[in-house]
Formats: sequence, C-alpha cells, structure tokens
Amino acid sequence: MANLNQNFLNLKESYLFIEISKRIKEFMNNNPDVSLIRMGIGDVTQPLAPAVVEAGYKAFAEMGVKATFRGYEDSGRGYEFLREAVAGYYKSFGVQVPVDEVYIGDGAKSDCGNIGDIFSADNIVLVTDPVYPVYVDANVMSGKKVLFTDFVGSSLPEKVDIIHLCSPNNPTGAAYTYEQLKKWVDYALSNKAVIIYDAAYEAFITEPDKPRSIFSVEGARSCAIEICSFSKTAGFTGTRCGYTIIPKDLMLYTTDNTEMPLYKLWERRQGSKFNGVSYPVQRAAEAVFTPQGIQQTQETISYYRGNAAIMMKTLSELKITFTGGINSPYVWFKCPNNMDSWEFFDYMLKEINVVGTPGAGFGENGAGWFRLTAFNTKENTIEAMERLTKLLS
Ligand code: PLP
Repeated sequence: MANLNQNFLNLKESYLFIEISKRIKEFMNNNPDVSLIRMGIGDVTQPLAPAVVEAGYKAFAEMGVKATFRGYEDSGRGYEFLREAVAGYYKSFGVQVPVDEVYIGDGAKSDCGNIGDIFSADNIVLVTDPVYPVYVDANVMSGKKVLFTDFVGSSLPEKVDIIHLCSPNNPTGAAYTYEQLKKWVDYALSNKAVIIYDAAYEAFITEPDKPRSIFSVEGARSCAIEICSFSKTAGFTGTRCGYTIIPKDLMLYTTDNTEMPLYKLWERRQGSKFNGVSYPVQRAAEAVFTPQGIQQTQETISYYRGNAAIMMKTLSELKITFTGGINSPYVWFKCPNNMDSWEFFDYMLKEINVVGTPGAGFGENGAGWFRLTAFNTKENTIEAMERLTKLLS
C-alpha cells in the first residue's frame, strides 16, 4: 500500500492564487461583461527584450545543425558562458562572485523549494512574515519546523538552522538596508545557520543604500546562499531560467559535527534530480547581460516602475498607509476602513472590478493588508487607480 507523505496534511488547504482564481471565476461567471483589471498575481506582462529573442532564435537554429547540436549539458551547473555572464553582472555592481559558485536552474521557485532536500528534517526554519508562500510550504512538506518573525527580525528565536530572507520583499516591496542585512548575517553566523536569500527582485532596486546582493555584506559568504531569477529581471516567467550562488566555503554539519561543503550536496542533489536548462534558454539568458540586453530590460523595468509610481501617488492622495513601489514592483497597503484582506479583495472585485492579492494569504502579519502589482499596462494602472479613487473618496 502506498502511503502519502503525512506532512502534506499540514499544508494550508489551498494555495493563495488558486483561491483567488476561484473567486474571480465565480464572479466572472455571474458578470461576464465587466472589464476586469488584474493586479493580483505577480506575473510580468511585457514581452522579452529583442536582444534576448534574437539570441534564443540563433541558439535554436544551432540545435538544428549537426555540427552545433547539443544534448545534455555535462556539468549539471549550467553552461560556462551563462555562469560567466552572471558573475560579470554581479561585478558590475561591485560584488565578486567566482564563476564556479554559480549554478543555473529553471527559476527561483524551484531552487527555493528544492534546496531544502539537502538539510536535515530536524532543522528549525525561520521565515519572515508576511512571506512568499514557497518558503513555508516547501519546508512543511519535508516535515521541518517553521518559525516566524517580522521583516527586520524584531524578535528572534534562540536557536535556528535555516533562515529564508527575501529582498526586495514579496509581498511588501520593502528592501533591506546594509545594516539590517548585516544584523541577519551576524545572527546566522552566531547560530551556524544558513541564510537562503531570494533576490528575485534585485533589478528593481533604485535606492543606493539597499544592497543588490547579500554578498555585499561582510560575513555573508560564510553563512548565505543567494537565489535569483531572470523572471522579473527580464520577463522570463514563461521562459524559465534562474541561478543560485553557493560560496565554496559554506558548510553544513553531519550529526557528528563533521563539516561538508554545501555546494557538494547541492551538486549531488541536482545530479540526481535535475537535467538542466535548455541550451537556447541559457543563450537567451546570457543576452540579458549584454549591453543591449541590459538597456532593453531596464526600459521594461522602468515601465513597471512608472506604474508603481502611479499607484504610490494614488495611495498617498487617499492617505492610505503603504510600503514598496520604490525598490519593487509591489505596493503593499493597509486595507481602508479596517476591512480584512479578503473582505477588501471581494469589495474591490465587486465594486470596481480590480483584482489584487489579499495580504492575509502571505501570513498572519499580512492580515488587513493588500498587495497590488505594477506588472500591468500603464493604461490599466491609471484606470484601476481612478476606479479606486472614486470608490474610496
Ligand atoms: N521568488 C520570489 C520572491 C517571487 O516572488 C517569485 C515569483 O513571483 C519567485 C521567486 C519565482 O521566480 P521564478 O519564476 O524564477 O521561479
């Protein structure tokens, strides 16, 4: 008899975005003619940059010629050309990353979830609440104990083994200062804990005091890995490519306290369960970091930033408390009139046909808060904000 992994019974019944889709579907069935503006799910809407598409086409053409055809990529880490491009990108903002510490994957969500395989099920995990749900769900699935604190770690447990951090943060849009991150690094070092740092939105950072990488913080190489993605940097949500950086000197411990390099365990895990990202996609990702690619992807990010600015202006005018928007495509605000998150979700959906994400879906501290994303057209963003202003004025 096949038994299930009992830990799955400890997961929250429905994933946040499934519940949102359900409510939208029900509403649209009853109101088929409304023009709905979707500012809920954090998916990009603008197409890939021309330089990226061209590199992808070219690589696909190479796959159709015997002399340049490629099968599996042998190292399992990703092609050297892309790992070099990633290291070069970090260098451009002053962070030294050795090429052999870069591992190419199919996106940040997989790596954030899969990295848990190499840690003991006894490990205690700390996540900041509100939180991107994957960190919690993946650890619950493997039976690990998950504790919560706030973004800056105002109260910290005495003992912890794994810490998930995300900056700029999903859902709040907040980004750590150097000092805030240094505090986390010191805490991890004093616990011999590992920080799993999700930098998926680093390309949105505009303020110079907000680090783009945890590796710009002193001591981080001894306690952190960084997971990043082309999804939000370059619109790869449907193309799939990301990277994880694992310092060579970062150790895990056996039960008898013997050190083992974390990267070796990750390579072993990936060697068994992952066959790499396709060659054309890796070539397309490489093009993101060419001068042309950087310029074109930055134009798209600026477009989203413009949308975030429109939302921030509206919320300021409505005197609604909010965070985010400056270093992130997310704006996170307090639901007006003391409504709870799902109440406000339904209110927006029914009254102005605008979809957002209820903060409560991101954890207890998200209750009473709401997230809107800048991943939309400028026209839709303006329209949604006009509707919101009318509703709340
Ligand atoms: N990390 C964070 C914080 C995210 O918000 C998301 C997607 O919304 C991801 C990772 C997923 O990235 P990817 O598309 O690379 O799997």
